Amino acid sequence: MTGDDEADVLVIGTGAAGGIIAKVLAEAGIKVVCLDQGPWFRPEAKPHWQPDWEWQRATRWATEVNVRGLSNDYPIDTDSEHTLMWNGVGGSTVVYTAVWPRFRPTDFRKGVEHGLAPDWPITYEDLAPYYDETDLLVGAAGLAGDPAIPPRGPFVGYPPAHARFGERTGLALDRLGWHRWPMPVAILGEGHDGRPACNNCSACQSGCPTGAMYDVSLAMMPRALAAGAKLIPDARVEKIETDASGRATGAVYIDRNTGLRHRQAARMVILCGNGVGTPRLLLLSANARQPNGLANSSDQVGRNLMHHTAGIVEAWVDKDLESHKGVINGAHICEEFAETDPRRGFVNGFTMHIVRLNGASYQALGSHTAHRPPWGRAHHEWFRSHFSRGFGILVLGDDLPQPSNRVTLSETVTDSSGLPTAKLHYRLHPNDDRLVRYGMERAVEIARAADAFDIKVNDFREADGRYRPPTWHLLGTARMGDDPATSVTNLWHQSWDVPNLYIVDGSSMPTCAAVNPTSTISAMALRAARRIAGDFRALAEATKPISGAPS
Ligand SMILES: Cc1cc2nc3c(=O)[nH]c(=O)nc-3n(C[C@H](O)[C@H](O)[C@H](O)COP(=O)(O)OP(=O)(O)OC[C@H]3O[C@@H](n4cnc5c(N)ncnc54)[C@H](O)[C@@H]3O)c2cc1C
Repeated sequence: MTGDDEADVLVIGTGAAGGIIAKVLAEAGIKVVCLDQGPWFRPEAKPHWQPDWEWQRATRWATEVNVRGLSNDYPIDTDSEHTLMWNGVGGSTVVYTAVWPRFRPTDFRKGVEHGLAPDWPITYEDLAPYYDETDLLVGAAGLAGDPAIPPRGPFVGYPPAHARFGERTGLALDRLGWHRWPMPVAILGEGHDGRPACNNCSACQSGCPTGAMYDVSLAMMPRALAAGAKLIPDARVEKIETDASGRATGAVYIDRNTGLRHRQAARMVILCGNGVGTPRLLLLSANARQPNGLANSSDQVGRNLMHHTAGIVEAWVDKDLESHKGVINGAHICEEFAETDPRRGFVNGFTMHIVRLNGASYQALGSHTAHRPPWGRAHHEWFRSHFSRGFGILVLGDDLPQPSNRVTLSETVTDSSGLPTAKLHYRLHPNDDRLVRYGMERAVEIARAADAFDIKVNDFREADGRYRPPTWHLLGTARMGDDPATSVTNLWHQSWDVPNLYIVDGSSMPTCAAVNPTSTISAMALRAARRIAGDFRALAEATKPISGAPS
C-alpha cells in the first residue's frame, strides 16, 4: 500500500455536499484532497448528443444503480426499492432534475409539532442565510414572493418557461383555489456566472451537457480545483482509519483502475457519500474500538432512512401542451397540503409537482405510470390523441424517520472491488400510507380540474400489495442532533465519537420535509464549510465535540 502526502482535509464524495465543501475550504487556503469512487465524465460523454439518448437513459445512463450496473457503482441489495443515484464526480447532481425548493420553518421542529419525529438542532432561521448564499452560488432561478415560505433572498433570474403546459395546469390549480407557484430550479432561464441559459433540449436527466443545469461536476468542482483542491477520481474508499485515541487519521482507498490500495492521510475527514454511501462506509470502517461501525456508539448509523413517500398521476387533455419538451422538472409546485392538519388523519404533509411527460420512446413504454399505449394500429391513434397533450402530478410526502428503515451491510452482495455493498430495508409507516393515499386523491382532483379525458394513477404498489417507489432522495441515516444517544453528529456535523470526522450530506437530516432535498443539503454544506474554514486549526485538533450557538 502506498501513502500520499497528508492533507488538511480529506473530502470523501464529490456530490452536492462534497463539491461545495471542497470549494469553500480550498478557497480558504486549506489543503483539500477529494476522493470519489467514480470517474469525472466529460459533458460530451453524456448521451444527450446521440439519437438513442432515450435508450441510453434506460440502460447505461439509467438513474437506477441496479439497472446501470457500472463498475463505479455499488449494487444495492434491496427487497423493495429502485435506488437512484450517481457514483462519480458530481454525485447524483449529474443525473438529477435540479428542482430547488426550500424546507419550511416547521420542517425543523417536528418534535414540537407532533412528536413522531425529532426536532433539528438548528432552525430554518439558522439556515436561511446559507440558503440565500447557495442560491446565488448554484444559480437558482425562480419567482420571488411565494407566500408558502418566508421572505427569501433573490434568485439569479427566471426559470426556463413551460408555456402552454404551465398555463393549462396553472388554471386547473386556480380553479381548485389551491396554492401554486413556479417551481424554483437550479436551471438557468438566463445566462449567469459564465453558464448559458437552458436551450430546452429536453434531455435533462441524461445529464445536462451545457451547464445550464447546476451540476457539481461542471459548476463546483472546477472551482474547487482552481482554488487548489486535489481530486482523485476512481478512488473507492474502503475504510476511514483512526488512531489509538480514536481520532481519524485518513482513509484507505482502492484505485479502481489498478486495484491497488493507497492511504490518504488527513488532519480532518469530511464524509459526503450520501444517505446510503455514508452509512455504508461508516459500517465498513468498524474497528476494534468501534466494532459496530465508526461513529456509531449510538447505534443510529444507517437507521431512519427516509426517501419521501411518492405517487404520480398522468393526465391527458384535448390540447397540444408541448409537454414532452423543455426542462424535465415541474412547471408548478403546490404547497397547499404541506403542513400537518390532524383532520386529515395523518401528521406531516406533501407537495404536488406538476411535471411534463417524457419523450416518444418513454411514452411508448409507459412514461410516469407505466401505462403502455396499445401496439398495432391503435398505437398510432393513441399517439395522435395523447402525445404532447399530457402532464404528470407528482405527490411528494414527508415520510417519518423510523429506526427499522435502515441501511446495513449486505452479507451476500459485493461491489466490483469485493467490498460488501449496502442493503436497504424500508417499510411504509401507516401514517405515511394514509398521507400518500390522500395525496393521490388530491392529484386526481387536479387532473379533473384540468378537464383531462384520460387519467392514469401510479401509487407504486405492485401486484403483491407492496409499496415500491423510486428511492432517489437518500436521507437521514447519520442524523444530526442535540443528544449523542439519538444522533450521529452534533449541530455542526461533527461526529460525537470521532472529533475530527464530519458527516455532511443527505444522511445528516433528522427529517426530510415534503420537498426535494438538495437546496437544503447544499445550504447545510455551506454552513458546515464556513464553520470549519473559520476555525480550522482548532477544529482539526479538537479532542471532543465542539459547542457553540447554532448560527
Ligand atoms: C434521478 C434523480 C433525480 C433527482 N432530482 C432531484 C431534484 O430535482 N431536486 C433535488 O433536490 N434532488 C434531486 N435528486 C436528489 C439529489 O441528487 C441528491 O439529494 C443529492 O445529490 C445528494 O447529495 P449528497 O451530497 O448527499 O450525495 P451525492 O450527490 O449522491 O454524492 C455522493 C458521492 O459520494 C461518492 N461516494 C460514496 N461512497 C464512496 C466511497 N466509499 N468512496 C468514494 N466515493 C464515495 C459517490 O460516488 C458520489 O459521487 C435526484 C436524484 C436522482 C438520482
